[in-house]
Amino acid sequence: MSTLRQSITTLLLDHDLSAREISQVIGIREKEVYEHLAHIARSAAVKGKFKVQPAVCRDCGFEFKKRDRLTPPGRCFQCRSESIIPPRFRIKEV
Ligand SMILES: [Zn+2]
Repeated sequence: MSTLRQSITTLLLDHDLSAREISQVIGIREKEVYEHLAHIARSAAVKGKFKVQPAVCRDCGFEFKKRDRLTPPGRCFQCRSESIIPPRFRIKEV
């Protein structure tokens, strides 16, 4: 695991953070954070401990629970709103 991924993992231990918040702390772009998160989520070290609080539509409250990708959708499937609260991530400690 790269140092960067290790840092992100440490940040997420029992803290809910969005990719934007992680990007601000680590100093990399949000897009890169999502790439690292995808690797972290699949890694054996955090298997079963990686939790996603799904993205939510600000306008109708729809939760994007069934989304496979970690990135939020561009717009709501239900009301077409583009105002989406991004998902938050956490790694549960044992
Ligand atoms: Zn909506």
